[in-house]
Order: sequence, then structure tokens, then C-alpha cells
Amino acid sequence: MWNEIYVEEKIKDSPRAAGILKKINRTPIIIENYNELWGRSKKPYLQKRDTLNLFLAKKEGQLLKLAPDAYGTSGELHYYFIHAYNCIYECQYCYLQGYFNTPDIVLFINHEDIILEMQNLVDQQKGKKIWFHAGEFSDSLALSHLTGELSLYHDFCKKNPNALIELRTKSVNIKELEILSPLPNFIVSFSLSPFEIGSRVDLKTPSVASRIKVMKKLHLHEWPIAIHFDPIIYEDNFKKTYQELLIELERESLTKNIRYLSLGVVRFTKEVYREVERNYPDSVIHTGPMTKSFDGKVRYHRPMRLWMMNSIKELCLSHGIQEDKIYLCMEDDA
Ligand code: SF4
Repeated sequence: MWNEIYVEEKIKDSPRAAGILKKINRTPIIIENYNELWGRSKKPYLQKRDTLNLFLAKKEGQLLKLAPDAYGTSGELHYYFIHAYNCIYECQYCYLQGYFNTPDIVLFINHEDIILEMQNLVDQQKGKKIWFHAGEFSDSLALSHLTGELSLYHDFCKKNPNALIELRTKSVNIKELEILSPLPNFIVSFSLSPFEIGSRVDLKTPSVASRIKVMKKLHLHEWPIAIHFDPIIYEDNFKKTYQELLIELERESLTKNIRYLSLGVVRFTKEVYREVERNYPDSVIHTGPMTKSFDGKVRYHRPMRLWMMNSIKELCLSHGIQEDKIYLCMEDDA
């Protein structure tokens, strides 16, 4: 899977780096700082199919970022934490294709530092509910069997019942979760598209059907789970395809048992949209009429976005999802 492996000098002897290297059974190239090489020159996104490099590094600087408005349920504090850059999957709409200069993966292994920052924040905000989201710049479970950090975040949640961690994923790699016990504030959320469109746009990911199977398994073991219908992509029959997806979720008793569901319509910055056009010119993403908004974002016009979200919200309600569990993601007045 990996072309070259690079490890920063300062972490090369750490047990976590050694554990990862042992699992992938490769001799690394030692470097001073991942920034010396990673993203230094433009590497086209689709080269990840042939030559994907892996960097093990220490994250410095800001480890937690305040999440933008409407990132999660409203009225609460939301942060995301950065444990990796880039992803082994290849979703056609992925914003990482225009965000970084390279698709090479960086795994930051200093999770203790991230958790310390989380703890400081929780201590400062005594008694307030604070969300920490994983999966902003990478999938949060796809490589978790290699990186092995989930138990640290799980311990943090056990100690801090007011803190909530959300692991956002399209993976079915739950090996590391299976050795932990469920906690009400340690939530696994799955991004789902209708079955057929998912197979066309979520490249190299586990199928939507297999994600549902894993959701069911986690639910039966009392793990809190959540769903993101995001990005919603226009097709003439989008209502029918979401109906089929919801029928399946209801059949598996998942609609009544999720913690929350977010709805978000496909949207891009202009840089990412340029990449999507170049990398996937025939994608279904280009079916709907995209326009450039005043803020430079490329998306369907507002009435269309609201119509799509409200249509799907109605379907969700009719399949047993409670209204107060549904929120609209990243919607604004544009
Ligand atoms: S799973 Fe997420 S991070 Fe990975 S390619 Fe898909 S959209 Fe990008």
C-alpha cells in the first residue's frame, strides 16, 4: 500500500511509531520534519492510486480548532482535533483534493498532547458540554488498527462525562472499538449516501450496505451511533434513493436509535471544485446546477438546497427519526 515511509527524527524511538512500523513491516526514511517534504511540490491528487507515501510526525502548533458554525448540534461548543492529514479512501467530492498540495498521508502520533489540550479546555469550561470531532482531515477509523490511539480518547471520555468525542467515518474497521466498552459520550458517526450513488462517488470505501451492517453491530453492542447524510448530491430520483436508504436503516432498527443525523448538501470552495472537475469530469456531482455564491463557494442555489434538505428531512421523519435529532449542516444565508 505504501510507497515510502518517512518518520521524524524526534519520534522515531517512540513506542507508538515503533508499533506502527512493526505492523507495516517497513524500514522508514528518517527526516527532520515532515514539512520538509510533505506537500513541498504539487503532487496530483489521483497519484494516490499509484504512489502513496506515509509520514509519521508530531503535530505541533494548534492541536484543536474551533469548528465552524453549524458543524454540529447548535448551542454547544464544537472543536475538531487533528490526528492525521489525508485519507486512504477516494471520495469524488473530498475537499482534501484541493486543500493540500499532496494526497500523501501524515499520521500525527502525539495523541497525549492533543488529549492534554482537550483536558485543559474542559477544565476551563467547567460543567459545559464540549464536543471534539475527529475526522476533519482524514477518516477517523480507517487506519485505527495501525495507529491504536482510540483507547486514549476513550479514557478521556470516561473521565470527562461532559466532553463528547465524535469519530466520523466511512470505514467498517471497528477492531479497536471492539476491545473497548461503549460510552454514552464516545460516538461513532457514519456518512452515508444512497446505495447506488455511494458506489459511484465513494471510491475505495466500504460499501454503504457494509457500513449499515457495522452500524447495526455497534448498536447491538450499545455503542451510540449517528448518521451524516452529507454530501447530498442532486439526481432526478434523489428522493426515491434516500427513501430506499431510510427503509433499510429503519429495517435494521437504526432510525429510532441514532443520537443525531445531519443533512448537508454538496458544496465546495472554488479551488476544490476546480480539482473535482479535473479529476472526475463525468461524475454525477456535475448533474445539478452549481453556482458560485458571493463567498466564493460553489453549490446549488439556496432554494434548491433548502428544497433538497427539507425533502430528505420529511423522509427521515416519516421513517421514525425524531425531529430534534436532525440538524442541517453548514447551511447559511448564502
Ligand atoms: S472518507 Fe472523508 S477524508 Fe476520506 S476521501 Fe472520503 S471524504 Fe475524503
